[in-house]
Amino acid sequence: MSSQLPFRYIKSGHYEDDARTYKREYAEALDEKDPLRHFRDYFIIPSKKDLTRKQLAVTEEEDPSDPRCIYFCGNSLGLQPRNVRRYIDQYLRAWAIKGVTGHFVPHEDALLPPFVDVDSAGSKLLAPLVGASPSEVAVMGTLTGNLHLLLASFYRPTTEKYKIILEGKAFPSDHYAIESQIRHHNIDPSDAMVLIEPEDPEKPILRTEQILKVIDDNASSAALVLLPGIQYYTGQYFDIKKITAHAHSKGLLIGWDCAHAVGNVDLQLHDWDVDFAAWCHYKYVNSGPGAMAGLFVHERHGKVDLRNTGEGGAFRPRLAGWWGHDKETRFIMDNKFVPQPGAAGYQVSNPSVLDLSAVAASLEIFNQTSMAELRKKSLELTGYLEHLLLNYPPDAAPEDKPFTIITPSNPEERGAQLSLLLQPGLLDKVLEILQSNGVVVDERKPNVIRVAPAPLYNTFTEVWEFCQIFLQACREALKARK
Ligand SMILES: *Cc1c(COP(=O)(O)O)cnc(C)c1O
Repeated sequence: MSSQLPFRYIKSGHYEDDARTYKREYAEALDEKDPLRHFRDYFIIPSKKDLTRKQLAVTEEEDPSDPRCIYFCGNSLGLQPRNVRRYIDQYLRAWAIKGVTGHFVPHEDALLPPFVDVDSAGSKLLAPLVGASPSEVAVMGTLTGNLHLLLASFYRPTTEKYKIILEGKAFPSDHYAIESQIRHHNIDPSDAMVLIEPEDPEKPILRTEQILKVIDDNASSAALVLLPGIQYYTGQYFDIKKITAHAHSKGLLIGWDCAHAVGNVDLQLHDWDVDFAAWCHYKYVNSGPGAMAGLFVHERHGKVDLRNTGEGGAFRPRLAGWWGHDKETRFIMDNKFVPQPGAAGYQVSNPSVLDLSAVAASLEIFNQTSMAELRKKSLELTGYLEHLLLNYPPDAAPEDKPFTIITPSNPEERGAQLSLLLQPGLLDKVLEILQSNGVVVDERKPNVIRVAPAPLYNTFTEVWEFCQIFLQACREALKARK
């Protein structure tokens, strides 16, 4: 493990027991030294008052010095970057003063190119976040919609090879998408869905070896694997490189749902040889609820070869629309579909410029640093969170511990999020206390809370404060239960 950690990392889940690290001053000193700390100012952090406000209208008593909430929920919905308003204002202005000519007329002071080219600007900004070239990614559609488009292209079942391997506890939307794709081919999902189930339901982590074995066991009948880069419930970060290589060695295509990984860990989708991937931009990428999503198609699948139009040539089959058509000839309207090479050739409709403006505003911030830098801070931030949580009376017997951490303790196997499994009967009380202290985390019933400090806008001091409030909430909830 990196020697950059502020406290000496000894082995999984254990840190040097240094009394200093439990003090607020220590957290504050870490913030002082944090080279990324200025990014927090790029975001609107809701105040505690804001969270209880009944009306949207701006009122006079609003005070920038009001205490802020502790927002550890960027895994679910990232906070609003301040510059979104500037991008959206420009969009409204361009549309207002140019009408349809806004599609083609550039402005000297514009943050984005004319409407017709905003998608290319989007891919350029997005590529560095996932370790891809701009031609391998597209900002488009929505996550589940894009999964359907990608499956339509990459899931080409035959009578021998028709199964899809996924996790038994997949995010419901992914499960439904796969199930319905299988049915769409008139295949029975109960036969064709190979579900990888956790060995321990209490701590539902999937070991890499287990995944590789399921691939081996189904290699002759499976066509495709679809897994999450980071699991939404446990926060487990899968070994994308190793699993991808293994799937390929057995002749399977593999796609990754990176909803919880993009903007969180430093993905290298191209180098890891991933076939395709999809994600949304409203979690760690902070582009607003339901924001336009993103997808990745590896360069080798995006080729367009019109000299070879026979079976298996030309380009990978797909569900097409005019925005995927070659840019030079798109407006000739001759109804002969020739896709743009790369991920752009998977686009269907012309993008919502309103929506893409918010995504671009957020991506611009990511482009001022790098995922490697953000990941470095994230490892420290989440490591510090774990360190403080494990200090809940260190001498308490296991049955007296109000929670366990189900996220892997190896920092290489997780992103920003820690999932805490509470003892039965504590969740409601704990949430009530967190809420009354202006702490925003999310819950997965019956007993899990997910805590995700985001390296772009969260601080070590917030981690420290959160732990004070949370550990006290646990003590009170234990008392109330007795
Ligand atoms: C957040 C999330 C979704 C949500 O899908 P939308 O199409 O954006 O509504 C789907 N799958 C996973 C794994 C997610 O984490």
